[in-house]
Amino acid sequence: MHILNQRLEPAPGVLYVVGTPIGNLGDLSPRAKSVLAKASVIASEDTRHSGKLLKSLGSTGKQISFHQHNYQSRIPKLLDILKEGKTLAVISDAGLPGISDPGEELVAAARKALYEVICVPGPCAAITALVSSGLPSTKFCFEGFLPSKGNERKLRLASIAKERRTTIIYEAPHRLIKLMKELEELCGGSRRVQVAKELTKLHEEQIGPDISTVLDYFLEHKPKGEITIILDGKEDAKENQINDIFWEKELNNLIAEGESPSQAVRKLAKKTGLSRSMLYSLIHKKTKVNYSKETN
Ligand code: SAM
Repeated sequence: MHILNQRLEPAPGVLYVVGTPIGNLGDLSPRAKSVLAKASVIASEDTRHSGKLLKSLGSTGKQISFHQHNYQSRIPKLLDILKEGKTLAVISDAGLPGISDPGEELVAAARKALYEVICVPGPCAAITALVSSGLPSTKFCFEGFLPSKGNERKLRLASIAKERRTTIIYEAPHRLIKLMKELEELCGGSRRVQVAKELTKLHEEQIGPDISTVLDYFLEHKPKGEITIILDGKEDAKENQINDIFWEKELNNLIAEGESPSQAVRKLAKKTGLSRSMLYSLIHKKTKVNYSKETN
């Protein structure tokens, strides 16, 4: 049985975290519309972008910009608004605030200051892509945007490759091919993946079912629009093999840069915390392979 929320909303002194559409304006819930129309203050990322939505709802609330570059200085001001007993709503440009968008720190600060926080749920690209992917959704993890380069990216990718749960990744279209190539190298081309493009929009598209097919597709069709990637978890038996491939490649890179094998092992062990003996075993494995090649 469905029970309607009998509380009068929005209530004074409460922070409302409101989900807004990720493309299709029809996805804005009646409750979200009502809270946004009546809130005294609405904190939003891009006030011009959100201003159009708020205007269409007849909102007379004051807009305050709240984004990744000003959230620290804004939070005390927003808490003052709650202190004055006004109703405050926070929205992002699209989807749920706090999911790869500002909101998390404001909610934490409001809770710390003992203000009530209520989420008015709405669309989220991560969950929308997951449930439409056909990949396991009983256990999953959210990675959001990966670091764009460097060691941090390598370590995150290595950890994603061995993750057993389904993984959700956000990626910009101009970086998608690079990511697919990296995933192909680390996970193998047959790992299942589903790329969701432009969810809820006119040109919504899903591309799968595995990394190699997706890579081939995007090499032919330039990636465009908003993209969420759903990657299947690793099968248990493949774990060691995947790790070995990755760390062996890292060792090879160091050796190609001029390090001796033992220097390469020491350097990588220091950087990653991996055991030297495990890394040495990869070098020895490589030596054996090379040796057999030479004698054939
Ligand atoms: N807070 C948002 C949410 O709840 O989904 C996510 C914001 S994050 C800054 C933006 C990223 O979400 C995009 O770069 C893309 O990876 C993903 N995304 C947003 N809208 C999408 C859509 N309609 N289709 C596919 N992915 C989308």
